[in-house]
Amino acid sequence: MEENKTQGQVLFESLSFTAKNAWEKSSEDEKNKAFEFCEGYKSFLDKAKTEREFAEEVEKLALQNGFIALDKVIKDRKKLHKGMKIYHINRKKSAVLCVVGSKGLEEGIKMVGAHIDSPRIDLKQNPLYEDTGLALLKTHYYGGIKKYQWVTTPMALHGVIVKQSGETVKVVLGENEDDMVFTITDLLPHLAVEQMQKKMSEGITGEALNLLFGSIPYNDEKVKEKVKLNILKILNEKYGIVEEDFSSAELEIVPAFKARDVGLDRSLVGAYGQDDRVCAYTALKAILDLKEVEHTALCVLTDKEEIGSMGNTGAESVLLENFVANLCSLSSDTYSDILLRNCLSRSKMLSADVNAGVDPNYEGVQDKKNASYIGKGLVLQKYTGSRGKAGGSDANPEFIAELRKLFNEKNIPWQTGELGKVDLGGGGTIAQYVANLGVEVIDCGVALLSMHSPFEITSKMDVYIIYKAYTEFMKSR
Ligand code: MN
Ligand code: MN
Repeated sequence: MEENKTQGQVLFESLSFTAKNAWEKSSEDEKNKAFEFCEGYKSFLDKAKTEREFAEEVEKLALQNGFIALDKVIKDRKKLHKGMKIYHINRKKSAVLCVVGSKGLEEGIKMVGAHIDSPRIDLKQNPLYEDTGLALLKTHYYGGIKKYQWVTTPMALHGVIVKQSGETVKVVLGENEDDMVFTITDLLPHLAVEQMQKKMSEGITGEALNLLFGSIPYNDEKVKEKVKLNILKILNEKYGIVEEDFSSAELEIVPAFKARDVGLDRSLVGAYGQDDRVCAYTALKAILDLKEVEHTALCVLTDKEEIGSMGNTGAESVLLENFVANLCSLSSDTYSDILLRNCLSRSKMLSADVNAGVDPNYEGVQDKKNASYIGKGLVLQKYTGSRGKAGGSDANPEFIAELRKLFNEKNIPWQTGELGKVDLGGGGTIAQYVANLGVEVIDCGVALLSMHSPFEITSKMDVYIIYKAYTEFMKSR
C-alpha cells in the first residue's frame, strides 16, 4: 500500500494529527477483549445504580481482592509497606482505595479519581400525598437533567430510610423482573396544545415530577386520605416505617431498566448512570487488578459531583486529603504535615470523567476539530469551564506531554476533547478541587452520547481502552 502514496500524502500523515477510529486500529483479539470486559461492566451497572450501592460493591470487591480497611490498619498499628492494599469507605457514599508502591510517599501518588453519583430524581423529605384517588411522591431532581426525558418511563426506587432508633432500612424496588415499577406521568398530546407551545425547559416543571405510587383506597369511610393510608399501611408492613421516617431517608428514583448492548454490531453500551460509572468502574477495576507498583497508586470515588462536589462525601471535602494524611501517618513513627504537603504536590491524577461525544443529530454545538468522538479512544481534556474557561481546571502542558508519551508507547488510542463550542456552555469536574491540593491533574475519560439522560451511550472499545489507560497510568514511573 505504502508505495501508492504520494510524497505529500506521506508527509501529511507524518506531520498532521487526527485521532483514528479505535476499532480499526485494534486486532480481533482486542475487540473480543473489549466485548468481554463490557459484560462485567454492564452487570456492575445493574448492581450499582446509586452512590451507596457503588460504595457497597467497592467494599465487597476490595475485601475479595485483599484490601484491608483503613480503620483496621490503624487499629492494628500496622505500618505502611510495599504491596499493602488499603481501602476506606466514607459515610457509605464515597471511597478511596490504594496499593502501596515501592517508592516513598514523598515521591508522590498516582491517582485516578471518578465520581459515583449520577443525575436522578430524589424524594422530598415529606413526599407522600393523595390526589384524585392516586398516591404520589413529591420529588426534587438531582443534577442537571432535561426533565422531559424522565417521564413516562419505568422507574425504580433505591435508597435508605433511617429510623429514629438508628436502624437503617434498605430499599430497592423495581429491579427484579416481577417487581412493581413506578413512573411519572405526562400529558396526552391531545390536550397538550398549551404545553407544546412552551419552551422545553418549561414544558415540564420540577414540581410536576411526582411519582405515581398507588391507587387502592383503605376501606374506611371515616378516613379522608384512603389511598395514602393504604400506602402507609403497606410501607409499615414491609419496612416497619411510619410517614415521619421519610424525613430521615435518602431515596433516589432511577430508571428501572438494565444495561443493554446497542447497535446491530453490539458495539455500544446503553445504560443509566454511565456518567460517571464508566470511569468509576474502570478506575476501580484497574486498582483491584493492580499488582506491583513503584509509586503508590490510589483510586478515589466521590459523591455529589453532579451538584458541585460539595458536602463531606464530595471532592471538595477533605476526603482525599485525610486519606493521604493517614497514609503519611502510617508510613513513619511521627506524623509530619510537610510529608503530606510534599506528597500531594508531587502527586498526579487523572480526573476520570466523561466527555460529550459528537452526536450526528446535533451538529453545530461543538467545534468538530476539538470535540471528542465515540469509539476514538480515551479523551484527554486539557480544560473545563465555560465562556472563557471560567470556573474550569486547566491542565499543565508538561503533564499532558508525559501522558501522550505513555499512551503512545503503550498503544492506547487517545483523542482530545472539550465540552462544547466556546460560547455555548460547559461544565466542570472534580479536577479543580484536586488541583487545589497541589496535585497535577487532567480530565481523562470516555466520550458519551445522551449525557445525563436515563439511557446514556458509550463505545465498548472506549470502555476497555480507558481501563487499560488507568492501569498503565497507575503503573507508570
Ligand atoms: Mn461526570
Ligand atoms: Mn455529569
